[in-house]
Amino acid sequence: MPKYRGSCHCGAVKFSFSMAEEITSGLSCNCSYCERRAAIMLNPPLADAELERTIEGNALSSYQFGNKVAKHYFCNQCGNYTFHETMRKPGYFRVNLGCVDGVESFELDRKVFNGKELL
Ligand SMILES: [Zn+2]
Repeated sequence: MPKYRGSCHCGAVKFSFSMAEEITSGLSCNCSYCERRAAIMLNPPLADAELERTIEGNALSSYQFGNKVAKHYFCNQCGNYTFHETMRKPGYFRVNLGCVDGVESFELDRKVFNGKELL
């Protein structure tokens, strides 16, 4: 089972998770928020207990908008989006694959989720 580690740019927010298979694709979303950050995200999402998080002090902040179901977490020291709790499946998390060690995020196959229609 491949184990992955990731962090924000400054390292104040770190996370790790295991996947059944190697990551070869990801998901982007075209909603008003995701289009601006243009991230490629882990698909499928992880259950809360599957995402191990290590946060230095109060470095983790979150942003919510619209129906305020999803929680978009970011490091308030370097500003990077690291992971978010999903709108479609509350209690589940997608991570920013650009933050994950050993993943060439620009090389991954990418599906686009039509979040624009929902928010
Ligand atoms: Zn940071």
